[in-house]
Amino acid sequence: MKKCPKCEANYISDDEDICAVCKSDNKNNIEFNFIKNTKRNDIIKIGDIFPLSKNSQLINYLTGKNIDNWPQATYKLTDTYYMWIIALDGVVRSGWKDVLLKDGRIKENYIGDISNLPSNFSKTFSYKYKAVFEKNDDNFIFKGVYKLDIDNTTLFERYYVKVADESTLCDF
Ligand SMILES: [Zn+2]
Repeated sequence: MKKCPKCEANYISDDEDICAVCKSDNKNNIEFNFIKNTKRNDIIKIGDIFPLSKNSQLINYLTGKNIDNWPQATYKLTDTYYMWIIALDGVVRSGWKDVLLKDGRIKENYIGDISNLPSNFSKTFSYKYKAVFEKNDDNFIFKGVYKLDIDNTTLFERYYVKVADESTLCDF
């Protein structure tokens, strides 16, 4: 054990650089600086990285809104266009498992409890276009605009095809 070199208050193990409190401070600083100092591009391009960790931060940054908390994965942009903020690591969350396939499509699979379906279960069919943001631990990455591949989609197994690599977020 040694003292954290940054705050000189908390103890850390020898293989750690700084303590959890300082790590969280650093992260908050990065997010604060990004929101404050980085002007949002009019056009968002595939691969664009947003070093933020909360859905509400991403939505606020991109749309100019001021939302406190947004745990939901979808956020309405226009009548036919939604932000879709999802992890694509194949880990099951609340019954859903989402992955990016080798052929470029996104597969959204419900493998949760069938007798206890989520309230928004069939709603995805009215979300015509989706601006997909991959949610990672400390950032979001824009993956493009996707549309439901309706011919190959069932309620439990849904496929999306990419229709655009860039977007203004009000163009669909
Ligand atoms: Zn510290």
